[in-house]
Amino acid sequence: MTHDLDADVIVAGAGISGLACAWGLQQRGARVLVLEAGPHAGGCITTARADGCLLESGPNSALETTPLIQPLLEALGIADERIPARPEARNRYILREGRLNALPLSPLAFLSSPLFSMRAKLRLLREPFIARGATDAEETVAAFVRRRLGDEFLDYAINPFVGGVYAGDPENLSVAAAFPRLHELEQAHGSLIRGQLAGARARRRNPEKSKQAAPMFAFEGGMQTLTDAIARRLPRIELGTAVASITASGGRYVIEAITSGVRRKFHSRAVLLAVPAYAATVLVAPFAPQAAAALAAIPYPPVAVVHSMYRRSAIAHPLDGFGMLVPECEHRQILGTIFSSTLFGSRAPEGAVLLTTFIGGVRQPDLARLAETDLGELAYAEHVALLGASARPESVRVKCWPQAIPQYTLGHAARIRQVEEAERGFPGLFFCANYRGGVSVGDCIKSADRASGSITAFLRGA
Ligand SMILES: Cc1cc2nc3c(=O)[nH]c(=O)nc-3n(C[C@H](O)[C@H](O)[C@H](O)COP(=O)(O)OP(=O)(O)OC[C@H]3O[C@@H](n4cnc5c(N)ncnc54)[C@H](O)[C@@H]3O)c2cc1C
Repeated sequence: MTHDLDADVIVAGAGISGLACAWGLQQRGARVLVLEAGPHAGGCITTARADGCLLESGPNSALETTPLIQPLLEALGIADERIPARPEARNRYILREGRLNALPLSPLAFLSSPLFSMRAKLRLLREPFIARGATDAEETVAAFVRRRLGDEFLDYAINPFVGGVYAGDPENLSVAAAFPRLHELEQAHGSLIRGQLAGARARRRNPEKSKQAAPMFAFEGGMQTLTDAIARRLPRIELGTAVASITASGGRYVIEAITSGVRRKFHSRAVLLAVPAYAATVLVAPFAPQAAAALAAIPYPPVAVVHSMYRRSAIAHPLDGFGMLVPECEHRQILGTIFSSTLFGSRAPEGAVLLTTFIGGVRQPDLARLAETDLGELAYAEHVALLGASARPESVRVKCWPQAIPQYTLGHAARIRQVEEAERGFPGLFFCANYRGGVSVGDCIKSADRASGSITAFLRGA
C-alpha cells in the first residue's frame, strides 16, 4: 500500500454488489473507500416502515443459492435476525382465464392442475426427444421454451415467471445469459427433463442450490438489515457522493466525485464500478468506448411498486401463498402481487394484510410512469378483479424505479465480453453489478465474492 493513496480500492456504488465486494476486500486486508451517490447504502434494497407496515420497495426476500450467504450473515452478526419464508407461502398463483390457479408443486399435482391443458401436459412428454438447439446460435428464452416445452408452457409458466424476476419479456431475453442453467442442461444432456433426472444426485452434493431448491429468507427488520450491517462495518463509506470521472495515470486511478456540489479527488490502485450499466457507461466512455457502448445497450425498464394495506376482511382470497403472477396473454395491468404479510410475519398490523404489486416492466413501461395516485387506483382495481377486494386499502405507498432491472437480452454475452476486455486493457479497473452474473441478491453476493478475489489478486501483483 502506497501512503499517498486514499485507498487500495475505491468502490463506486453501495448496492449489495459494491457493499459485499468492499466487505470481502476488507476481510482480505485491503483498504477500501466506498463512494455512494444516494443518501443511503443498499441501492435497490430499501426497507421502510409506514402505517404500521414494513415495506420492501426492492427485494422482499432472497434465496440461499450460495453457501457464501450464511457465513456472511454470521460474520456481520445478523444471522439471528434472519427469518425463513413461512410455510403458508409455498403456493404460487398464476392467472389463467381470469382465475388464479396454484402452480403445481409435484408431478401428481401437475397432472390434475387446471393451469395446463391435457394437450400441454402431453406435449411435455415429448421434451426428452427434442433435439438440442444449435450451439452457435443465440436463442431467446421464448424460442427455447416454445421449442422444448410448447406454447402453453411459455404463456402460463415462463412468461409470468420472467415478468416476476426480470420484469422482462421472454421474447427478448437470451436463454444462455438469463437462464444459464437451462441452457447448460440442454447442452449437457440434450433434454431438460433428462438433465434434471441425471443431475439429481450431483445437485444434492453441490453446496450451490438451484433457485427452485434454495431456502427463501428475509430479516425480521427487512432486507435492508443486510446492507445496513455491511455499511456499518465498513470504516470508510461516503454517502451522497457521486463518482463523476475516472482517469488512469501512472499505475493508479484518479477518481473525481461530487459531494453536495463540491468536486473532490481521490487516488487508488484499483477501482470497482459497482454501479448500474447506464452509470458505468458514462464513467468509462472517455477511455473505453467499446465497453461504454456495450454497457449502454443493456436495457433497464421502469417498474412501479405499490404497497397496499387492507383490512383482512376486505380481501376474499385466502392469500395462502407467496403471491400471484400475471401472464401477458391475460391482458391485465399488473405483473404480479406478493402477499407480503403471508410471506413473512410482522409485515402488517394485526387484522390487516399487506400486498406488494409490481407494475410496468418491459411489458407495459408507460404504466410504471403513471402518477402515484393512478398507480394506487390501478393496483386497487386489479385487487378487486383478481383477489376479490371489497373495500379500498387503508393505506397505499408507491415507489417508482425509473430504471429497475437490467435485461439480459440477445447479445448480452458479447456485451459482457467488452466489459472483460476493458478489465484486461486497464489493469486495476473492475466491474461488478447485477447486469453481470445474475440479478438476484444471491447472485450479486456470489459475483461480489468473485470480484473481491480478482481485485485482491491484482493488489498482490498476481
Ligand atoms: C423492484 C425490485 C424487486 C426486486 N426483487 C428481488 C427479490 O425479491 N429477490 C432478489 O433476489 N432480487 C430482487 N431484485 C433484484 C436485486 O434487488 C438487485 O438486482 C440488486 O439489489 C442490485 O444490486 P447492485 O448492487 O448490483 O445494484 P444497485 O442496487 O442498483 O446499486 C448500485 C448503486 O450505485 C449507486 N450509483 C449509481 N451511480 C453512481 C455514481 N456515479 N457514483 C456512486 N454511486 C453510484 C446507486 O445509487 C446504487 O446505490 C429486485 C430488484 C428490484 C428493482
